[in-house]
Amino acid sequence: MPETALFKRSLFNPEEFTLTFELVPSRGGNSKEHNRTLELAAQLAKDKRIQAVSITENAGGQAALSPEVLGMEIKKMGLEVIVHFSSKDKNRNQMESLLFAWDRLGIRDLLVITGDYPQEGYQGCPKPVFDLGSVHVLDLIARMNRGDFGRERKNAAISPTSFLMGVALSPFKRSEAELMMQYAKLHRKAARGADYIITQVGWDARKFHEVLCHLRQTGLTLPVLGNVFVPNLGVTELMHKGRIPGCVITDRLYAEIRREAEGPDKGKKARLLRAAKLLAVLKGMGYAGAHLGGPGLSYADIDFLLKSAEELGGRWRELVRELDYWHGDGFYLYEKDAATGLNSERETALSREGAGMQLNYRLASLVHNLAFEPGAPLYGLGKTTCLALEEGRLANTLSHLEHVIKFLMFGCQNCGDCTLGELAFACPQNGCAKYLLNGPCGGSRDGWCEVYPGKKRCHYVRVYERLKSRGLEKSFRTGFVPPRDWALHNTSSWLNFYQGRDHAARREEE
Ligand code: SF4
Repeated sequence: MPETALFKRSLFNPEEFTLTFELVPSRGGNSKEHNRTLELAAQLAKDKRIQAVSITENAGGQAALSPEVLGMEIKKMGLEVIVHFSSKDKNRNQMESLLFAWDRLGIRDLLVITGDYPQEGYQGCPKPVFDLGSVHVLDLIARMNRGDFGRERKNAAISPTSFLMGVALSPFKRSEAELMMQYAKLHRKAARGADYIITQVGWDARKFHEVLCHLRQTGLTLPVLGNVFVPNLGVTELMHKGRIPGCVITDRLYAEIRREAEGPDKGKKARLLRAAKLLAVLKGMGYAGAHLGGPGLSYADIDFLLKSAEELGGRWRELVRELDYWHGDGFYLYEKDAATGLNSERETALSREGAGMQLNYRLASLVHNLAFEPGAPLYGLGKTTCLALEEGRLANTLSHLEHVIKFLMFGCQNCGDCTLGELAFACPQNGCAKYLLNGPCGGSRDGWCEVYPGKKRCHYVRVYERLKSRGLEKSFRTGFVPPRDWALHNTSSWLNFYQGRDHAARREEE
């Protein structure tokens, strides 16, 4: 039986509720923590309620043991592993190389994520790589699964891979712009081959329900595992302060956990029971399964959580109102259903406040539509002029002129593979700390970038607001911006576009 069979079979069987548990590799190849993780995995391997463990990769942006090393040790115990695969620390070639290795090792269940921004490492902060975004990685792996290995396209000498690709989704975004862009990105992930979804960490039943409503309403049929996380007190503090990207503990929940912590067990049982209630609600409302996790949980804790959830299952509708931990001003995609405490079918009306189109966006769109769309009135003139300048050895002058204009207007970083036209004329090389081209990471908080909280707004909030100013707020759900071609760095993107060297030409080949 292929290694992914049990987990995959359970995931796609509507009669089954799939349970996975998240493990975090320790720092160092030989550590007490590693041994403790293996002991827990050995107990989970004997528990038929758990179908797989997922293994994080440099979680929190900090270097740890490679996930496949822990994964291979656990696979030998007979337990399936899902390995997290992020682009934060590796470029596209390193990613392919690792995928070849994992295919060879029989590690085929993946959770494809952008990854947290890298943190302090040897002698300082490492270079944040983010050569590809998660949508690109899905596209790369989907091609490998089809037997398309790039240069050796459809080369029968290389066997297709059979990776199963999970993706993350965060419904726990406070503002309309962040939330709408999370869902837009999910659609791009689905279009590039995502197989299933794991949600981010949060504790609001209606938010979890929103995911199912959105999938149903937009016709996406991916199975979803809801995240059931049991924080300890340290992690509670960090999540409440926003120090763990994408994980949200609201003020009310924080106050409740602090109160519970005054008890003799420091509130552990209360936190486990809250997790059990969430698990019961997820199962009741129709999730395909749940992704469990939490620092320092013992096997006895996990067993208590699962048994409690089982006992609470019949009361899941009542429990919905207890799991009401969202910001008072937080945005929901749908209006509330007063009868159930969940969502109705009616979409929330979007505010139209300040929806005017900015002048530089208006101007840039006008120029783009006149000269940079095939068939546009000035397309031929623009192309002829640029190509004549290149042949007349004025390419450098053109390149400098373009850079100065675009730097003043957009903060251009001279990538030579311009995506302004696809991203509402907001430059991701300048505006997004992870250089993402197909939608936001999951790390923004209250509209701020994960990397610059309180200082710089998330780039995709700006993109959303600009699209919305033209009534195009849902348009980002379709489309694909191919990865940047680094061979074009510091060259004229106008010339590259007219010469058919940039990503626009590759996009049209799709
Ligand atoms: S700008 Fe937004 S998408 Fe980019 S790194 Fe910051 S939070 Fe993530």
